[in-house]
Amino acid sequence: MQTPLIDPFARAITYLRVSVTDRCDFRCTYCMAEHMQFLPKADLLTLEELERLCGAFVDLGVRKLRITGGEPLVRRNILSFFQAMSERLGNGLDELTLTTNGSQLARFAAPLADLGVRRINVSLDTLDPDKFAAITRWGRLPQVLDGLRAAKDAGLRVKINTVALKGFNEDELFALLDWCAAEGHDLTFIEVMPMGDMGEEQRLGQYWALSDLRARLAQRLTLTSLAERTGGPARYVRIEETGQKIGFITPLTHNFCESCNRVRLTCTGELFMCLGQEDRADLRAPLRAGLGDAMLHDAIRAAISRKPKGHDFDYTRGVAGQMSRHMSHTGG
Ligand code: SAM
Ligand code: SF4
Repeated sequence: MQTPLIDPFARAITYLRVSVTDRCDFRCTYCMAEHMQFLPKADLLTLEELERLCGAFVDLGVRKLRITGGEPLVRRNILSFFQAMSERLGNGLDELTLTTNGSQLARFAAPLADLGVRRINVSLDTLDPDKFAAITRWGRLPQVLDGLRAAKDAGLRVKINTVALKGFNEDELFALLDWCAAEGHDLTFIEVMPMGDMGEEQRLGQYWALSDLRARLAQRLTLTSLAERTGGPARYVRIEETGQKIGFITPLTHNFCESCNRVRLTCTGELFMCLGQEDRADLRAPLRAGLGDAMLHDAIRAAISRKPKGHDFDYTRGVAGQMSRHMSHTGG
């Protein structure tokens, strides 16, 4: 039995988010530039390397794996990776899950459910087909709705993630809420984050504070704050009129760092100990150097020993407080 991963601030690291690709079949305006330069294939970890690394984290006490990207379901042979990780379920791992744009779910929902995936997050910012095409640039809403139907049919529990965007989906707040209630999906709003260099003007124009969104909900509905904490930036309320649980992810606040239980692995094997800091550890080099498990574990422990106390996001400091990485690099 290995000693679990504990960082310098006595936080146990039990949650790993893994970006399996930087590529995507959408180009959401807040996430990617229209003409993205993707990484050379040779830089990406192979699926076998990803399996070995994720397996090492599970050996060291990680109990929850979230697979993300880019779009995780566009990575070739991704099911073989899920298959390998599903073998750790009940054997160190409590939960295997993913965040997806939903475009490939019609094909993948049933096999994922068969491999032990129980809950998934699907990103959806609007229910209007034209607005959907505009915000994702390349996406088509009916394809995602088909995918969501397949997820439901496969028995997957769905949480919809909606990025709150000023002047874009403000007018759909209640429509989204009602639709999620009717479909039986949970709903979480995400405050837009300063990731990637996409032009200051555009980004600041998109920012819609969730405190404002929440106040608008409260004008019509009764919200009860829930004590539930996930170790991340999400806070939850129950809507008394419908019983719905709604989440709010406000990464620009600092109020969650003290309970942070997670780290993020990129598709090139960089481990980011904090989403909002540039420090990272290269785990691909030890992996490709052919080191044994003990040395790989040491490299992971050394990285965790550098996990910072909190993040550096701050709009008020302008560019200096922002991250040059795109979200699709660290995988949201
Ligand atoms: N492609 C998948 C998807 O869209 O769900 C997984 C990767 S995506 C980077 C993960 C999440 O990050 C999505 O919910 C997306 O809306 C969110 N996201 C991307 N860029 C963001 C930004 N700048 N601020 C806040 N959330 C962002
Ligand atoms: Fe792709 Fe997800 Fe980024 Fe949209 S948010 S461009 S779907 S990675």
